[in-house]
Amino acid sequence: MVITLLGTGGADGIPGLFSSDRVSEYAREHGGKDIRTRSAAVIDDVLKIDFGPDTWAQCHRFGIHPDEWQAVLLTHDDEDHLAVPEFQYALYPFVNRDHLPFTVYGNGHCLKKITDRFPDWPLDLVLTQSFHTFDFCDYRITPVAANHAPPQDAQNYLIERDGKTILYATDTGVWAERTWRFLEGVRVDLMVLECTEGIVPTPYNGHLDIEECLAVVSRLRHQGTVRDKTVIVTTHHAHMGDCTHGELEAKLHPLGIEVGYDGWNREV
Ligand SMILES: [Zn+2]
Repeated sequence: MVITLLGTGGADGIPGLFSSDRVSEYAREHGGKDIRTRSAAVIDDVLKIDFGPDTWAQCHRFGIHPDEWQAVLLTHDDEDHLAVPEFQYALYPFVNRDHLPFTVYGNGHCLKKITDRFPDWPLDLVLTQSFHTFDFCDYRITPVAANHAPPQDAQNYLIERDGKTILYATDTGVWAERTWRFLEGVRVDLMVLECTEGIVPTPYNGHLDIEECLAVVSRLRHQGTVRDKTVIVTTHHAHMGDCTHGELEAKLHPLGIEVGYDGWNREV
């Protein structure tokens, strides 16, 4: 599998749309890896993960044609991950087509938002539930319960193909014990892990700061889910975490963790 991180920013991206804080101003001045659009990814150009407000720009920037997507996997319904109105451009009158060319997988909150907006559309929607595995094309996919935005069943995704496993864990917070127990039996080749709060922890427990991120990785190593050769890369960085890309690298590289950026990709 080849995974590409199309966006690696938190809710309002970096620079924050209306922010003039240090990290946002640094990004405006320096550009490059410090510019972070809203978090999303694509695997093999076939599985699109999340469908946020920067989807158009990400596809244009990275030469991705959504006609190749066979499924869109939604992690949860927060607006940086699910921009419902954008689906309209996949159908008539914007294109000469009366059905979406891909299946949309998501929890009940995601599907309700979509059907509320498009009640009469012939959408191929499939409800996902944490720890209920399904097969799609050549992939075996298991939604894993995140600790984020309750009461909805926010999900991280475990995606397997040809003996390789990717865990996409954005907007995860520190998992509840049932997720840890489930992952005890899993060996991951590549993990995408959020590091939203950087060096500025907040009381909100639906996101990870650097220390929590390291604690999660440490426990995963200890229980064997993550091994020495597992690729670990971060995503969903917020400007309020007060770290530039270079500052994140200085903290995380020595610990064997790569810092994600828009366009980062890897084959496993
Ligand atoms: Zn988010």
